[in-house]
Amino acid sequence: MTQAFLSIRGIRKVYGPVTAVENVTMDIAEGEFMTFLGPSGSGKSTTLYILAGFQDPSDGDILLKGKSILATPSHKRSIGMVFQRYTLFPHLSVGENVAFPLRIRRRPQAEVAERVKAALKLVRLEGFEDRRPALMSGGQQQRVALARALVYNPPVLLMDEPLSALDKKLREEIQFEIRRIHQETGVTILYVTHDQEEALRLSDRIAVFSQGEIDQIGTGPELYAAPATRFVAGFIGDSNFIEADVVSSDGQHAKLALPGGTVIDGVPLHGALSGSGKAALLLRPERMNLHLGEKPGSLGGTVRDITFLGNNIHVLVEPEGVAPISVRLPFGHAALAELAPGNKVSMSFNPSDAHAFK
Ligand code: ADP
Repeated sequence: MTQAFLSIRGIRKVYGPVTAVENVTMDIAEGEFMTFLGPSGSGKSTTLYILAGFQDPSDGDILLKGKSILATPSHKRSIGMVFQRYTLFPHLSVGENVAFPLRIRRRPQAEVAERVKAALKLVRLEGFEDRRPALMSGGQQQRVALARALVYNPPVLLMDEPLSALDKKLREEIQFEIRRIHQETGVTILYVTHDQEEALRLSDRIAVFSQGEIDQIGTGPELYAAPATRFVAGFIGDSNFIEADVVSSDGQHAKLALPGGTVIDGVPLHGALSGSGKAALLLRPERMNLHLGEKPGSLGGTVRDITFLGNNIHVLVEPEGVAPISVRLPFGHAALAELAPGNKVSMSFNPSDAHAFK
């Protein structure tokens, strides 16, 4: 077995009665872009702070190239950081901010000047050396923070919600820059966000955090196509959940009765479901089709709302006695010409595109 570049082993962190992180384990390859994705309070930052050396774990270990780094103080771990709360030094120029990690490492002046120049070039801020951070936009300031984190070529870069203070357009622009910088430098990145779109856009793999634990680690397409838990299914991509009755199951797939009585077979099953009982059925809005009128074998309902969203149209359909279901149709879909609120429609989908959870 090849040795992992960075290995997080059974990390646990308790604060008095609160368990912030429990049994967090993963191996990260050299040059990988790994994102910790999850809602607020799910343990992402705590895990990152333990990697950074700001916190000690209650249990577990962190290995870099096979060696534990837990006993190494934060500033000697060779880990670059861009955190929302570690902002620039306001009294220093951009050049001196970027030079800071080299100054504390007592690098010679000629090397400092050369590396600062290269780091500013990397983030496309050449010539900004003498500017004060206060005279720069939020996006430019985060680029300076990125240059400062990368100036001494750390093998690992930690980023904790670095873009959350920026507006959407600027955020997307800097996401693009982060991708480019990742590709150009080959640095291993661990990135924290609660924004699934950001995670999908940036990452090689995503670790989905829920209540201090990791539910699943995978590429974006893996998490979308084969979510391990209902939580992951609801967090990656858009989703509808409806309650269905389990008619039978073979352990891998289930036969389910939908509200209204329609029976579908061959729905991928996640978690043990007995031959009877209830299942939560996940239906992706973009994986459903819609027909006017009633159609045997599909799920009937009444159109409640139609919203034009540019390249697709969002239709809200309410089956009898069930919460409304979102269906997303491509622009130009045949049913759209006649569709209006109040219409009776049927929704159909390929059972293999759905997922049944306990
Ligand atoms: P996230 O980064 O996913 O928002 P955190 O790692 O910040 O989550 O927090 C995980 C849990 O640990 C939360 O319940 C939070 O309240 C708790 N927690 C984090 N830091 C502390 C602390 N210093 N003292 C007590 N509880 C904390």
